[in-house]
Amino acid sequence: MSNSLLVTFWGTRGSIATPGRSTEKYGGNTSCISVQYKDQYFIMDAGTGIRPLGIEIMRDHMLEEGKYDISLFLSHTHWDHIQGLPFFQPAYHPSFGLTIYGAKQKDDNLENLLIGQMHSNYFPVPMSALGSDLSIVEIDENELTIGEVKISTTELNHPGGATAFKLSVDGKSVIYATDNELNSQFDLEGNLMNEDVMGKKFFEFIKDADLLIADGEYTQDEYETKVGWGHSSMPVLINTSQKAGVKQLAVHHHDPMHTDNFIDGISTDFLKKYQDSEPRMDIFWAREGLTLAI
Ligand SMILES: [Zn+2]
Ligand SMILES: [Zn+2]
Repeated sequence: MSNSLLVTFWGTRGSIATPGRSTEKYGGNTSCISVQYKDQYFIMDAGTGIRPLGIEIMRDHMLEEGKYDISLFLSHTHWDHIQGLPFFQPAYHPSFGLTIYGAKQKDDNLENLLIGQMHSNYFPVPMSALGSDLSIVEIDENELTIGEVKISTTELNHPGGATAFKLSVDGKSVIYATDNELNSQFDLEGNLMNEDVMGKKFFEFIKDADLLIADGEYTQDEYETKVGWGHSSMPVLINTSQKAGVKQLAVHHHDPMHTDNFIDGISTDFLKKYQDSEPRMDIFWAREGLTLAI
């Protein structure tokens, strides 16, 4: 069995699913990423991309003896991060243990928010019909360990709040950090502004990460018209990550208006600009269906 962290992108789109021919390369499903370590599954967010992941997990593990445990981490409960959950087949099946982790909510609890999404006004099947061994755990900024993998969190700059997750094992780390408006914390060159406390913590959190999957929804021009919406521009994300010594950056949470041609164009421009710059950092635009070993 491989000792790598196997990272697969099941949904890379931000805000709303965008199926169609013009998005088939980078993908139209909303945010969902799986990280496999040995025989364990860690899932980041339950956007529409979690549906095909569920089908694969059913195929691989339904007939195993005993319960197969899945850990699902929710960055926050905006639609594009939870909408796939009612379509995640293992959640319905007694062969699976499903633990959903998310940050403590300010005004409501996580369980109520997820039950609300499956209220009959929005969905025909209630959450109580889920047949898996389901538990919902609200986490603070403390660390937890699942098997050999350590999970730590930090808060992100997003309306209503969002949480980033870092999975660390064998001296390697994979970080999932969306949705996040870095532009009010870091300048265009990636320098922290005004000693911003949350920004400073974020910078420490991503330092030297082997893979950072992070919100780079907008071009700089687009960002200027969307200040306060809770998302980052690509140059601020890229420069901040490079300054923090990130080894590999996946630009994630693509804007629904960004077609494959558009992303091909901007990514080529950025790659040309950064190919000889120091410190060395690999950059790619997250693509649905892509798996990489860390
Ligand atoms: Zn989002
Ligand atoms: Zn959001």
